[in-house]
Amino acid sequence: MSMQEEQHVDVLIVGAGLSGIGAACHLQASCPGCSYLIFEGRERSGGTWDLFRYPGVRSDSDMYTLGYAFRPWTQPKSIADGHTILGYLRETAAQHGVDAKIRFNHRVLRASWSTPEACWTVDAEHGRDRQPVRLRCNFLFLCSGYYRYDAGYTPEFAGTAAYTGRIVHPQHWPEGLDVSGQRVVVIGSGATAVTLVPALAKTAAHVTLLQRSPTYVVARPAEDPIANRLRRLLPAKLAYGLTRWKNVLLSMFFFKLARSRPERVKRLILGGVRQALGPGYDVATHFTPRYKPWDQRVCVVPDGDLSPRSRQAPRRW
Ligand SMILES: Cc1cc2nc3c(=O)[nH]c(=O)nc-3n(C[C@H](O)[C@H](O)[C@H](O)COP(=O)(O)OP(=O)(O)OC[C@H]3O[C@@H](n4cnc5c(N)ncnc54)[C@H](O)[C@@H]3O)c2cc1C
Repeated sequence: MSMQEEQHVDVLIVGAGLSGIGAACHLQASCPGCSYLIFEGRERSGGTWDLFRYPGVRSDSDMYTLGYAFRPWTQPKSIADGHTILGYLRETAAQHGVDAKIRFNHRVLRASWSTPEACWTVDAEHGRDRQPVRLRCNFLFLCSGYYRYDAGYTPEFAGTAAYTGRIVHPQHWPEGLDVSGQRVVVIGSGATAVTLVPALAKTAAHVTLLQRSPTYVVARPAEDPIANRLRRLLPAKLAYGLTRWKNVLLSMFFFKLARSRPERVKRLILGGVRQALGPGYDVATHFTPRYKPWDQRVCVVPDGDLSPRSRQAPRRW
């Protein structure tokens, strides 16, 4: 194998997404003398927040807890749009000089550990022509996320070959796809589906959410009024720290309550759904999962935008 490059660093970080950029910032702060590089398989940083571009793409967590402890989230929206999160990540990388350490189009293939040398040998490929690159490092941080970037999971649906409409996967949303006046079916009832439905309903003629089984859906304000007030009154870092702790503790409280009093939390969640939808919806069938709250992930709906009543103008969906 002809090696284009072979060098040694103290730390190699794999992936320049939220985790990789954060890891690099922490590394610089805690070990200032440390040498490091980031190998990023794609040509751009941001990972998830660069890849996913479907309509309405946003966080599910509030950004006061998903954001970095060392860099305040200062946007008014707490449940934030994908492009705002991407901007936050790239600004963080630029401010901390991390972007200069990223080697784009470097896809890590394998790593092997040598005990006598106390170091990793990492093999990667670079660029379209897949030039081999070898690097040695003492520590390897795998910040490579949890899904395949080249192809999102697509189950087999019988009859798709005969289907004359268009099939779109949210991981590879076609740029400029116009659904105006179209009848759309969204398959699934997880976070992506509950994000897509309100966004598509803005222009589509009709949107149906097709689900095998329901998910717990909880409405939360997209903006956190306490956080926004604290930010006006206090220095940014202090305000951010207080909101971060408030949200961490509240999340822990609700999670523990859901585990210790599942029936009570279930009644609370379903009561919220009934209130949002109004009369005429079969909440027992369409919004009541078979499992207890937090046996599986709970879906957050910012400002209750999944419910047609939450919108000013009536919409069909
Ligand atoms: C629409 C959406 C909303 C989400 N909302 C939330 C949320 O609100 N809260 C939450 O906690 N999580 C959320 N997630 C999960 C989200 O993926 C993580 O929170 C977070 O962004 C993951 O960051 P990461 O850096 O660990 O991984 P990623 O963002 O996946 O980044 C991994 C990076 O590693 C690179 N990479 C992978 N393999 C290699 C390789 N072999 N060699 C080199 N580079 C490689 C990739 O190209 C990528 O740039 C959401 C996910 C999606 C899709």
